[in-house]
Amino acid sequence: MNYDIPEELQAMVDTVKRFVKQDLMPISQQVEDEDHIPEEVIQTMRELGLFGLSIPAQYGGLEVGTLGECLVYEAMSTVNACFRSIIGTNNGIGSQGIILDGTEEQRERYLPKLASGEWIGVFALTEPEAGSDAANIQTTAERKGDHWVLNGRKHFITNGPSADLATVFAVTDKEKRARGGITAFLVEKDFEGYAVGTIERKMGMRGSHTSELIFEDCKVPVENVVGGEANIGQGFKTAMKTLDKGRLTMGASTVGSAQALLDLSLEYAQQRVQFGKPISEFQSIQNMLAEMATNIYAGRQMLYHAAWLRDTKAKPVVKEAAMVKLFCTNMANRVADMAVQIFGGMGYMKEFPVERFYRDLRLTRIYEGTDEIQRLVIARNLLKGN
Ligand SMILES: Cc1cc2nc3c(=O)[nH]c(=O)nc-3n(C[C@H](O)[C@H](O)[C@H](O)COP(=O)(O)OP(=O)(O)OC[C@H]3O[C@@H](n4cnc5c(N)ncnc54)[C@H](O)[C@@H]3O)c2cc1C
Repeated sequence: MNYDIPEELQAMVDTVKRFVKQDLMPISQQVEDEDHIPEEVIQTMRELGLFGLSIPAQYGGLEVGTLGECLVYEAMSTVNACFRSIIGTNNGIGSQGIILDGTEEQRERYLPKLASGEWIGVFALTEPEAGSDAANIQTTAERKGDHWVLNGRKHFITNGPSADLATVFAVTDKEKRARGGITAFLVEKDFEGYAVGTIERKMGMRGSHTSELIFEDCKVPVENVVGGEANIGQGFKTAMKTLDKGRLTMGASTVGSAQALLDLSLEYAQQRVQFGKPISEFQSIQNMLAEMATNIYAGRQMLYHAAWLRDTKAKPVVKEAAMVKLFCTNMANRVADMAVQIFGGMGYMKEFPVERFYRDLRLTRIYEGTDEIQRLVIARNLLKGN
């Protein structure tokens, strides 16, 4: 086991940390209030190459590897998780289908646009009747000449309103479904029959937008089946493989937010005076600080280890990625709860970012697979001897 950070990667992470401090910190509250990330900040993200962190260099990405991507997300999520979210789909679920299973022609056509941030890529699997039970999707695709015709409605799609390209999963064989009957399609926003539906109102993650995507006789050229003709019916596998990496990077994001909450709590506990002394002198407050730090340490180590396993291809990381997501997201939610407790009434007020972290972190136990689904994945792998 060795996850020393190469010098070049460390320099890149240091640049991101400076960007976070100088450009993101000062506007974090504004983004929360206005539910909008200013265009000039998104432009700086493009210039830093953040939309293409995970995309191979030959298609214009930075190709920093899983550990590199995790370090960047950790840094970005110390301020506001919506900043990670805007670049997250291009690096993760919005591009992985093409990277893992796309044809060379699809990679050349789409990856440079995603890597530069010129286009936003999204992942459209979830539907009103198919969340955890993703194999139950109702969206259909029917072959008509040189096109597939898609009909259906996706919901809860991250970056849906600004999407230029969606990896959309549809049923091509009702009998087979997940076992050879679901196909992945690359759908551009200008294709006939594609529309953005309702923009969903959420508990948190302001600045990151989620919406329905609607397909009404949406015409998709046959060459836009992910992986081409040979991959018709293989879309469910593509979806599952795509989600594995997302589970690691989600872990990274929660470690970053948990660290920020610990730092805020340490500072507040030493300043806030009750009964004539800083509350940091009370043992019950110290216990919470110790608990937070210990949990963050554990989460960070398992995250880096699983990222290293994935980068070195030492073994498949399906089980480990699910473990990282389950542990880190729950850990960060516990840390957020303790931070609110340490801040007392102030933890419930909007003067401090603690309440925002508390709301934003709650989502991480739900999307890209709930806690319960991660446990299913872990148990299934254990029982298979993996
Ligand atoms: C803000 C947000 C952004 C999202 N972004 C995207 C996106 O970009 N693309 C996309 O495709 N999807 C996206 N999703 C969808 C997300 O992945 C799903 O919400 C999630 O997988 C859960 O599905 P569900 O909401 O339908 O809940 P359900 O599946 O209805 O689950 C409800 C409860 O039942 C439990 N449950 C379900 N099945 C089982 C089981 N077999 N065993 C034990 N417990 C079970 C669940 O764990 C949960 O506690 C997003 C969701 C949100 C909220």
